[in-house]
Amino acid sequence: MKRLEHVSLGTRSVWAGEKDYLVHGATQVPVVHSVSFGYDDIDHWFQVATGKKPGHIYGRNTNPTVQAFEDKVKNLESAQAATSFSTGMAAISNSLATVLSPGDRIVSIKDTYGGTNKIFSEFLPKLNIDVTLCETGNHETLEAEVKKGCKILYLETPTNPTVKITDIERMVKVAHKVGALVFVDNTFATPILQNPLEFGVDLVIHSATKFLGGHADALGGVVCSNDRTLIERIFHYREINGASLDPMAAYLLLRGMKTLHLRVKQQCESAEKIARFLQKHEKVDKVFYPGLETHPNHEIAKQQMRGFGGMLSFAVKGELDSVRKFLPKLKFANKAANLGAVETTVGPARTTSHIENTPEERAALGIPEGLVRYSVGIEEVDDLLDDLKDALSFI
Ligand SMILES: *Cc1c(COP(=O)(O)O)cnc(C)c1O
Repeated sequence: MKRLEHVSLGTRSVWAGEKDYLVHGATQVPVVHSVSFGYDDIDHWFQVATGKKPGHIYGRNTNPTVQAFEDKVKNLESAQAATSFSTGMAAISNSLATVLSPGDRIVSIKDTYGGTNKIFSEFLPKLNIDVTLCETGNHETLEAEVKKGCKILYLETPTNPTVKITDIERMVKVAHKVGALVFVDNTFATPILQNPLEFGVDLVIHSATKFLGGHADALGGVVCSNDRTLIERIFHYREINGASLDPMAAYLLLRGMKTLHLRVKQQCESAEKIARFLQKHEKVDKVFYPGLETHPNHEIAKQQMRGFGGMLSFAVKGELDSVRKFLPKLKFANKAANLGAVETTVGPARTTSHIENTPEERAALGIPEGLVRYSVGIEEVDDLLDDLKDALSFI
């Protein structure tokens, strides 16, 4: 039998990370709810507790179900090590807190996820960490800022909600020259479409709540790296600070991931059809999707991704008034602040990803007030197209 790393990502989504955790001939990973793990032999106990023998001690540190989830993600990202968190934001904040010290500098882009952006604008400056946020998609500015020196270059690609792309390989080269670590939030692409570690990235971050789990029923986060020491340091920060992934959530995420490749494949296919349909629609001003030839970063996306993803956004004519009219008419879409689920999910950018910003700030970010984020689900695409056609006729 081929080693699992040599089979396709689809097969790995189904099989990877599970075998070591099966018990009593079960074909599915058990949900181990036990908070503690006991040892009669105190020498054995001591060896496990000090990491000299494999095993578990206490649920805040490690748990078998949680570990199976980490192993699956680690395999899909072809990483050497991974550790998990209660949410995507915990993964991001714990990783930053592990590496950064007062006086350090971090360079990133303006279009990071809303919560990440809040860490940059509100929390890191309080710790005397200098944050520089560059125009997303402007590689020259980003390069110039990184060259001045920094501890971390933090990227997210594709971004939220205008789906901008940053050239990962190009940025890694500049960052490594100044000794900076590169973190990439890979939530939108998923490991099916993009493996940032291939381009030399130091840490890959996922909100597992989104595409990895795929069913909008469990929160979670995970980070992967080829640098085992970096993951050990982040794990140590998390085990002490306590943002551990719950075993039941780990199980739901693990189960969701078994269909990751099928969902993502369908979502990419449907998103492209929908983007092309919207582009020609008279009520639509602008469509943002990296799969469109008109997208400013289409070529970079083609180089570093294996597909363009299930996320798109579009601006309707008539701004917010039009959104108010058409959004409630969509039958096959949750109007909610989530994405990456099996159900299509929609929301105006001003009430989801960029609720924290003023209209002026949104304008500066190139986010029209009438922008709608559309996370394509796995419904039959013709039904989604009909649904959009009907709803847009109310404008
Ligand atoms: C949702 C999201 C996060 C945060 O994840 P949570 O699980 O909600 O904490 C981080 N990055 C991106 C790109 C996201 O979409």
